Amino acid sequence: MNSRYEVVIGLEVHVQLTTKTKIFCGCSPGFGQSPNSQTCPVCLGLPGALPVLNRQVVEDAIKAGLATNCQIAPRSIFARKNYFYPDLPKGYQISQFELPICEHGWLDIETEESGEKRIGITRIHMEEDAGKLLHNDDNSSSVDLNRACTPLLEVVSEPDMRSSDEAIAYLKQLHQIVVYLGVCDGNLEEGSFRCDANVSVRPWGQKELGTRAELKNLNSFRFIKQAIEYEVERQIDIIDDGGEVVQETRLFDPDAGVSRSMRSKEEAHDYRYFPDPDLLPLQVADEWVERVRNGLPELPLDKISRYQNDLGLPAYNAGVLAAERPVAEYFEALVALHNNPKICSNWVMGEVLGALKEKGLKIAECPVSPELLAGILKRIDDNTISGKIAKTVFEEVWQTGKTADQVIEEKGLKQVTDTGAIEAIVDEVIAANPGQVAEYRGGKEKLMGFFVGQVMKASKGKANPGMANQLLKKKLAE
Ligand code: ADP
Ligand code: MG
Ligand code: ZN
Repeated sequence: MNSRYEVVIGLEVHVQLTTKTKIFCGCSPGFGQSPNSQTCPVCLGLPGALPVLNRQVVEDAIKAGLATNCQIAPRSIFARKNYFYPDLPKGYQISQFELPICEHGWLDIETEESGEKRIGITRIHMEEDAGKLLHNDDNSSSVDLNRACTPLLEVVSEPDMRSSDEAIAYLKQLHQIVVYLGVCDGNLEEGSFRCDANVSVRPWGQKELGTRAELKNLNSFRFIKQAIEYEVERQIDIIDDGGEVVQETRLFDPDAGVSRSMRSKEEAHDYRYFPDPDLLPLQVADEWVERVRNGLPELPLDKISRYQNDLGLPAYNAGVLAAERPVAEYFEALVALHNNPKICSNWVMGEVLGALKEKGLKIAECPVSPELLAGILKRIDDNTISGKIAKTVFEEVWQTGKTADQVIEEKGLKQVTDTGAIEAIVDEVIAANPGQVAEYRGGKEKLMGFFVGQVMKASKGKANPGMANQLLKKKLAE
């Protein structure tokens, strides 16, 4: 925190929707396809072609709005945002301006420095994406309009954030929500979740906001943080040198760790927004909103508090398990089969996520289903195997797809609970280690761990550790 200046940040996030078709035509958004193959007269912007609104886009906007505590407008308007650029053949982008579909929302974030804090969401509106320019080696450029007309939600925050940490906390939560809702794939690198950061500084106590710079090209959380921090320094240096910050758009260069001025910033009136006469005002009935509300999945923050309050998990575990919806669903399926949340949580966070990470797999590809894992945990609970042997069983189930019972049977991994058998091993261990036995009897009780270890080793991990312990105590006391 700077002692003289307060940092002010407002974020604009473009969320690319995962709908099957584009926002105003039936083309597939088709990424990675050959240039201009996913186009039609509407998304090519040919004169006379008329846009038809994709119902799913509206539904996704309502979902995002409800999940971020917005009010859903019963009537909203599509507007033309006019500007010239070769990737926009119509000469305007269809967006929403005066009456967006969602307004007045908020998210509660938490950071180490400022604790819990509410960040206002000014609006969420629907719009179409533009095409893409490809710059060729021979200094010519080509245009690919496959991306033109791809549906986006733009989520605009209030200038409520006061540090890069708050900005990142807000973004991570928003990101988690749209991915949970299934409306966005959340890939920052590929531009499915794009953030523009508006940054200004002002002397502490000043009411008016300082002049902002808008930072673009931020395709990872790390770069966003870096770019904001660089920008704050840059603005403070300018002001300290007696200069004035100019309102502009700046491009962050992650390799150099600096940003460069891209263009001076247009004001809204430069775009000559006006209602698009090709599209009717959009009316959203209350029943539709309620239907969407009832179909919303449980959101990450709600899951985290339920895992803590109802399942008794520590905050850290709850956070890890709820972070990604497929992981949460795996965990919940497991708890439904084996009602011991603590053990289930340990196994999912330890063995399952660990093995997936090592193999570079997603949880959907996990060869050990919740059913198979529950089968292993049941055999720990009923003392058929120890926790240690269970890890061997887990590996074998992972490799072969067999059930825990099959693996235990075939490999003879059943825990030895037969007193006579364990007693025989205990006798061997005592006979083989006279020195330690003497020390133990002389008062060095710490050696119990050593003896149990020896028994476990001799039994190849199959002796019931509790019984080994008891028998050792008894025999060593004799
Ligand atoms: P645009 O960037 O399209 O002109 P807005 O004027 O609505 O749009 O502002 C966009 C974002 O900039 C919002 O998130 C808003 O909170 C933020 N913002 C506006 N003024 C400032 C400022 N002085 N400092 C930091 N953020 C600001
Ligand atoms: Mg902007
Ligand atoms: Zn099309």
